[in-house]
Amino acid sequence: MGTETEALKGFKGFRLTNMPKNEPLSPGHRACQGCGEILALRQVMKALGENVVVVSATGCMEIVTSPFPQTAWNVPWLHVAFENASAVVSGVESAYKAMIRKGKIEDKGVVFQIGRAHV
Ligand code: SF4
Repeated sequence: MGTETEALKGFKGFRLTNMPKNEPLSPGHRACQGCGEILALRQVMKALGENVVVVSATGCMEIVTSPFPQTAWNVPWLHVAFENASAVVSGVESAYKAMIRKGKIEDKGVVFQIGRAHV
């Protein structure tokens, strides 16, 4: 289990030339053209990488990225009610720790940030 400080060791910042090619939030979502929020979310997801679980409360970024039966998410993603995103992600963290403790999965140094929108 990593901390935010450990996760940022060796981080040298992002430039267009060293931007990851992977798209945790893929193109093909249904956001309005020129939407600043989806562009910011895409950059945040690129910075976080693929060892992430996204818990998304209801809102534009939830609606435009997950029109049933499609999804723009290439990482685990949960949609929850407005008021319980923090409680759900803390449950995800607890389950992650329990599965490591029981030897079911290896610790990949996932960082959990509770209390921020969309992640
Ligand atoms: S936040 Fe929603 S309504 Fe606003 S531009 Fe983005 S997708 Fe469109």
